Amino acid sequence: MDFKLTDIHREIIDLSRQFADKRIKPIIKDADRDATFDRSILDEMGEIGLLGLCFPERYGGGGLDYISLGLACEELEYADTSARVVLSVHIGLAALPIFTWGTKQQKELYLPLTTSGKMIGAFGLTEPNAGSDVVGMQATADEMPDGFILNGEKMWISLSDAADLFLIFAWTDREKKAKRDHSGITGFIVQRNFGGITTGDIKGKLGVRAGKTGFISLSDTMVPKENVLGQIGDGFKIAMFCLDQGRYTVAAGSTGLIRACHDACVEYANTRKTFQTPIGRHQLVKEMIARMYAGYEISRNLYLKAGWMKNNGIANSRATSLAKWISCEYAETAASDAVQVHGAYGFSDEYPVERYYRNAKGASIYEGTREIQKLIQADYSLGYRKDKKDRTELPTWPFDG
Ligand SMILES: Cc1cc2nc3c(=O)[nH]c(=O)nc-3n(C[C@H](O)[C@H](O)[C@H](O)COP(=O)(O)OP(=O)(O)OC[C@H]3O[C@@H](n4cnc5c(N)ncnc54)[C@H](O)[C@@H]3O)c2cc1C
Repeated sequence: MDFKLTDIHREIIDLSRQFADKRIKPIIKDADRDATFDRSILDEMGEIGLLGLCFPERYGGGGLDYISLGLACEELEYADTSARVVLSVHIGLAALPIFTWGTKQQKELYLPLTTSGKMIGAFGLTEPNAGSDVVGMQATADEMPDGFILNGEKMWISLSDAADLFLIFAWTDREKKAKRDHSGITGFIVQRNFGGITTGDIKGKLGVRAGKTGFISLSDTMVPKENVLGQIGDGFKIAMFCLDQGRYTVAAGSTGLIRACHDACVEYANTRKTFQTPIGRHQLVKEMIARMYAGYEISRNLYLKAGWMKNNGIANSRATSLAKWISCEYAETAASDAVQVHGAYGFSDEYPVERYYRNAKGASIYEGTREIQKLIQADYSLGYRKDKKDRTELPTWPFDG
């Protein structure tokens, strides 16, 4: 594994940082407080190539590697989690699955629209009564002569109100549903304009307040057969594949959040004085800052390793899950310590650290909770879980054409 970033990687860091400095940082305090979401940010991300950076040029993408995706996520979350969530969902959970599992026709139709940002993607797996327990889902897809009729409720869906395209997972086999056999679940590419779709926002969230999170209600939504993603019954496998990509982006983003905590604390600790000396001179404050730096380095190495494995087509579910778990743990600790370092000022929105604190909590819940990541790690160690041979990995990089 090569730890040296290329010139292109550095360009992506600069591009993402400049975008975040110009479009996210100036508005984020108000947008977070008022829980407002600016749709034009998505258009601008599309225009500068952020929404298509790791897709082949023939689909309108930038042809860059998966490490570039991670670096962009790190920079965006340095500014705010809601900006990074866009890449996690649109690229990690929607477009990369179509790129990997889609038919030629699906790729040719949808990828140019997603890489340009003309269509925004979302991922509908969770339901009001089924999150970690995926097979507890109730959504159904009944086969008709010319397609499938989907019914169900998806809950806690990022970008639900902004998206034009949804990956929806539903039971196509009711006998298997009764037996909780996940081979009865199928994934569908569903366009908002297929009809019978209502979306809405969840109010009063703890964090990611400048990002949309909501519900998708499907009522007799007719989906053509050509919009099945993969094969009938592949849905669970595809959903787990989606999470492998989403978790990678969350790990990279959380790494950016740790760095944001670190930098805010370094600046504050060098200026705030107690007992006639900058608080950075107190050993207990140093300890918190040292832990942030360690957390940043560890998390960055873990996500870059997972990105390198993705580039090379190496099975990376375990490495990605580990990167997600550890970076989220460190992000929660770093954000809590960052509030502590700022004292009472950290307890108000005069400084950004209280936002980091609220946002960090979410990442330990979505894309598989902290507990689920721990179970995955232990199950690999104990031999209860192995990389599946029939599991499709991401197309290796560089892409042809
Ligand atoms: C901001 C945000 C954005 C989200 N975006 C999306 C999205 O875009 N698409 C989508 O489909 N979903 C999304 N989600 C949903 C998210 O993936 C789920 O919340 C998550 O999978 C957990 O499910 P749950 O909330 O139902 O909790 P539950 O599964 O009910 O778990 C509750 C608690 O029990 C623990 N637990 C559950 N099972 C076990 C076990 N076997 N062993 C030990 N502990 C266990 C969990 O770790 C957790 O602490 C989002 C959630 C949030 C908060």
